[in-house]
Amino acid sequence: MNLIEVMERFPDQEACIAHLERIRWGNKPVCPHCGSIEVAHKNETQEKDKTGRTGRYNCHACQASFKVTCGTVFHGTKIPLQKWFVAIALILNAKKSLSSYQLSRDLQLNQKTAWYILTRIRAEMANKTNPIVLQGIIEADETYIGGKPRKPNKREDFEPSKRGRGTDKTAVIGAVERGGQVVAEVAKGLTGRAILEFIRRVVNVRESELMTDEYHAYNALSSQMKHEVINHQVQFVDGDTHTNTIEGFWSLLKRAWYGQHHHYSVEYTPLYVAERCYVYNNRHRETIFWKFIRQSMILPKENNYSE
Ligand SMILES: [Zn+2]
Repeated sequence: MNLIEVMERFPDQEACIAHLERIRWGNKPVCPHCGSIEVAHKNETQEKDKTGRTGRYNCHACQASFKVTCGTVFHGTKIPLQKWFVAIALILNAKKSLSSYQLSRDLQLNQKTAWYILTRIRAEMANKTNPIVLQGIIEADETYIGGKPRKPNKREDFEPSKRGRGTDKTAVIGAVERGGQVVAEVAKGLTGRAILEFIRRVVNVRESELMTDEYHAYNALSSQMKHEVINHQVQFVDGDTHTNTIEGFWSLLKRAWYGQHHHYSVEYTPLYVAERCYVYNNRHRETIFWKFIRQSMILPKENNYSE
């Protein structure tokens, strides 16, 4: 879905609500607080006149009131859902991610609001990604991205010229299946043990062959699975032995980071990495917008939200 398609399909708040209600409830709204179906629309005209909002229900069983967005990524928002939907489409289509400044201009929101929307969407991407197990020819590698330290005036902490292992930047570890999906996350450490834990969690080690560079921490893997090493001191490609796929993902990740996110706190690095994985892993899926919206309406059962 591109911008125009989203705006045509969802011209107003009512269209967005109707779509979400259909996904979440079909034709029968259910109270998210108590599970009752003894619910009724609040008087729309009255409601609209009073607050400019629509889509609120009253529950006769527990007396609570609720909306279809209750407990979802859109929970409690005062921003029109159309803007959320456009933001989702923009982020899914952005090759190099999206800054809150760009989004604030695109959607005529202030930057803080745009940042809030982006962060919520990223968190949703992180939360709704099922565990992935890679299989086949797997390339593993690690990289560093610089986040701004929370205290200002400490530029040396993220000096771009300081590169490679042993810097103060955030270490990210990743594995990619050639022609398939990627898993990347902020690394707890880059020791042999941490890398082993990561690979065993995200790769089917019995059915896969691993390609890495010569970094010694990967040696721990050689006893666990087929493992080819490309020595980058000597060459970058040796027949099928290379790590170009994961390097390609890193360059996308970093280009986006340095182009858009240099003012971010390191605290949000995991969400940013999750976003880039989500977009990469759905790069061939034309229906990803619909999938995202559909997943946003799937909630754990026991939640009890007030809105
Ligand atoms: Zn209820």
